[in-house]
Amino acid sequence: MTEVGAGLQITPNGARALNDLGIDRALAATGVTAEAVVPMDAMASREITRFDLSSQTPPYRFYHRAALVDILARGCDAADVTIKLGAQISTVNSDGSFALDGALVRPALTIGADGLHSVVRGLVNTPTKPFFTGQVAWRAMIKTDKHDPVARIWMAPGRHMVTYPLPDNRLNIVAVQQRSQWADEGWHHSDDPGNLRMAFADCGWEVKSILGEVETVNLWGLFRHPVAVKWHAGSIAILGDAAHPTLPFLAQGANLAIEDAYVLALCCDEAVTLDEGLRSYQNKRRARVVRAIEAANKNARNYHLHGAKRLVAHAGLKAMGKAVPTAFLSRLGWLYDHDVTA
Ligand SMILES: Cc1cc2nc3c(=O)[nH]c(=O)nc-3n(C[C@H](O)[C@H](O)[C@H](O)COP(=O)(O)OP(=O)(O)OC[C@H]3O[C@@H](n4cnc5c(N)ncnc54)[C@H](O)[C@@H]3O)c2cc1C
Repeated sequence: MTEVGAGLQITPNGARALNDLGIDRALAATGVTAEAVVPMDAMASREITRFDLSSQTPPYRFYHRAALVDILARGCDAADVTIKLGAQISTVNSDGSFALDGALVRPALTIGADGLHSVVRGLVNTPTKPFFTGQVAWRAMIKTDKHDPVARIWMAPGRHMVTYPLPDNRLNIVAVQQRSQWADEGWHHSDDPGNLRMAFADCGWEVKSILGEVETVNLWGLFRHPVAVKWHAGSIAILGDAAHPTLPFLAQGANLAIEDAYVLALCCDEAVTLDEGLRSYQNKRRARVVRAIEAANKNARNYHLHGAKRLVAHAGLKAMGKAVPTAFLSRLGWLYDHDVTA
């Protein structure tokens, strides 16, 4: 199994679409079912509160990305869908045709699910360059003998770190730091674990002890585009990060891409013409995606608070967790309870 960017949190909204593909048993056997989201004070090594997730149906789970890709590929195989992994498409023409293995392919619908640096996006919109969001993220994995099935959000001024367990005794780590610029060439590279440790050196013992175990780490500049104005043109459509990249602070980028794919298929299936199906797809998805992106941006601000604002926010979280333990889930009901299969 190769590393495809390590861990992925699949929330109930994304899980509903995946389960409907008939791969629910494989998913249950592969993921770690989350019991809670636990905001932590990274400086004091203190649990602020705990938001229970155990009532979520379908469950909120943690996966290794490569394992999820593998399940989807096997699902395609079982459904007689040909999937060609590892193929590089160098150009897509404006009519949606492209060269593959030396032959010109002209599909009825070409879907650009080619991520943040999508070339297909530029065929249906005026091309734009992604902008740096002022945040960088280190991604790493360590071995662990702790099996607490929770996502911990370690909050510190100007930084935060998210940890959660993956199968085979691994702990997934995403550590984010605010930076004024991204000067490096390219948008990700391997980094010295010492730089990661240095960025969190003033944190409490728990963060330091987790980061002390990191042997290899990748550093990503977090880039975004505005949400694409057009998600389709002629027989071309875009979805996921190609249409609407989001900061990873609500764990929704992949979930939204999965929802997009489901809705796109449904809309094209139900419509009389392709154009009607594609218009209906964009209409159904846009407002929800914009709301999720704004919520992720807000989390970025709240996780990184400084000084008195930070103390007040942590006290507020603690009080909310005690007085209304269900508040976290009710606030995110619009996100997690959404059912694209309904
Ligand atoms: C640190 C971090 C943590 C995250 N955690 C979560 C999380 O827990 N939950 C969540 O929902 N989201 C998370 N996200 C967001 C999530 O990773 C993305 O939103 C999601 O992967 C987008 O999926 P996509 O299919 O649109 O694009 P991608 O996952 O980027 O996939 C695009 C694919 O297209 C391929 N491609 C591109 N160009 C070509 C070409 N010319 N020819 C052939 N192939 C090509 C690429 O190789 C790639 O495989 C996280 C993001 C980051 C940075």
